[in-house]
Amino acid sequence: MDTETIKIIIYVLIGGAVLFALVKLAGRLGKCNVCGEEGAGNSYSDLSGKSMILCKNHLVEKWKADVKSTQNTMIVIEPDFNTYPNGYMYANTKQLRAWEYPKSAEDNINSILDKIAGKNCAGCGKSATVAFFKKEDYNFPNMEDIKAEPKYLCKSCVVDKVAPLILSAPKPFVEGFMPPTPDRGVYHIQEF
Ligand SMILES: [Zn+2]
Ligand SMILES: [Zn+2]
Repeated sequence: MDTETIKIIIYVLIGGAVLFALVKLAGRLGKCNVCGEEGAGNSYSDLSGKSMILCKNHLVEKWKADVKSTQNTMIVIEPDFNTYPNGYMYANTKQLRAWEYPKSAEDNINSILDKIAGKNCAGCGKSATVAFFKKEDYNFPNMEDIKAEPKYLCKSCVVDKVAPLILSAPKPFVEGFMPPTPDRGVYHIQEF
C-alpha cells in the first residue's frame, strides 16, 4: 500500500469513529434519564437547575412533584399546546419585566395573586394556593387583560388538571418547559 492509500484508510476510520460517537450521543440525548425510553426528547430542568431529558410520563411526574413541593401561590393558565406547542413557562413578576411584559401585566398578575389567600380549593376544599384560568380567559400575550374570575385550586388539584394536556401535547418540549421558581408567579404558554 502506498502512503496515499494508508492516509485514505485512516481518514475513513476516523470519520467512522466520529460518526459512531455522534450517533451514540444523539441516542443518549433522546433517552429518558429515568426509564431509558428512546426518543423521549422532552427537556426539563429540576428545581435545582439540573437539566434532564424525560419521556412524557416522567416529565409529568417530575413537574407534578416540583409544583406540589413549592410553597408559593401561583397563577396557572390552562395551556393550549395545540396552538403553542413549544413550552410552558413559569415567570415571577421580575421575570415578566425582564421579558418586556408591560407594567400593567405585572400589576394585574400581582393583584390576581393577592386574592388567592383565604380561598378554598374548588376541587378538594383544602386551602387554595392557585388561581386557575381557562385558556379562553387569556388572549395571548396580554396578561393585563385577564379579567375573568379564576377557579381557586390547590397544587394537587391543578397539576391533575394540567397533566393530561401535557401528555397529549403534539410535540416534545425541546426547551421551554420550566419548573416553578420559589417565588409566586404565573404558568403560561409561550410563542417561540
Ligand atoms: Zn421515562
Ligand atoms: Zn384541591
